[in-house]
Amino acid sequence: MASETVKVVVRCRPMNQREKELNCQSVVTVDCARGQCFIQNPGAADEPPKQFTFDGAYYLEHYTEQIYNEIAYPLVEGVTEGYNGTIFAYGQTGSGKSFTMQGLPDPSTQRGIIPRAFEHIFESVQLKEHPEKGVYVKGLSMHTVHSVAQCERIMEMGWKNRSVGYTLMNKDSSRSHSIFTISIEIYAVDERGKDHLRAGKLNLVDLAGSERQSKTGATGERLKEATKINLSLSALGNVISALVDGRCKHIPYRDSKLTRLLQDSLGGNTKTLMVACLSPADNNYDETLSTLRYANRAK
Ligand code: ADP
Repeated sequence: MASETVKVVVRCRPMNQREKELNCQSVVTVDCARGQCFIQNPGAADEPPKQFTFDGAYYLEHYTEQIYNEIAYPLVEGVTEGYNGTIFAYGQTGSGKSFTMQGLPDPSTQRGIIPRAFEHIFESVQLKEHPEKGVYVKGLSMHTVHSVAQCERIMEMGWKNRSVGYTLMNKDSSRSHSIFTISIEIYAVDERGKDHLRAGKLNLVDLAGSERQSKTGATGERLKEATKINLSLSALGNVISALVDGRCKHIPYRDSKLTRLLQDSLGGNTKTLMVACLSPADNNYDETLSTLRYANRAK
């Protein structure tokens, strides 16, 4: 697969109230023009910062609107033309994944990638009724929609169904991946007056928090669950880096449910975008560095 089909950007959120109260220092700097991100090890001030380069790097001053227009728009446009696309948000709990994918209704510049994709698709596709289709995952439902508002209602429902649990990191620590898939079929008439059906699929994925388990205080069932999450995230990383490498004959899709589910939307003609979300605070240094390394493998 040509590497242009996988794009990786990073987004660093502002320091939050808790980090400010703890007097945290910022260890992340971003050179937006060059798509570069630097991270300073707070325990080794004399070391030069580690440097990473991505397809885009967004910082405090950037709105989701800009991220969408610059990097998500062409991918969603491809979906309306019959290609598959997948957008992931990756990062530790509290780093801004939901903020990026779901966003805030107000200000409108911070509306998330998901509602923007709804609007984008509805603006460019003519709509026709389609019977409900098969079910692939236990508990998964498929709905036919006719408007942006219907999409938003279904997204809300899905969000409520997410398994969310308390850990030390954040009261809303997300312990599950959330995948919102939009399938569209487009009838086009060619020059000879023949009907053609094109099908595009867009997966909008808010991954479970990537933090290592020592930090979350998880035990028992929670720990088991968390270990599975970490395994599926590493399987996803392996699939993406095998695709980017292009020389691998074997793409390890079967190593996790997540990658099996997304198999037809990773690789091939599919465009993939990963938004790696970062906290700027020194007490998150290890997790932030691990997110940068994960994102770097996907390039
Ligand atoms: P995650 O989904 O990764 O667990 P959230 O998206 O819930 O994290 O973000 C955690 C908190 O930080 C939320 O209160 C969110 O509003 C805030 N936040 C995240 N990213 C940004 C940003 N770029 N600008 C302002 N606030 C942000």
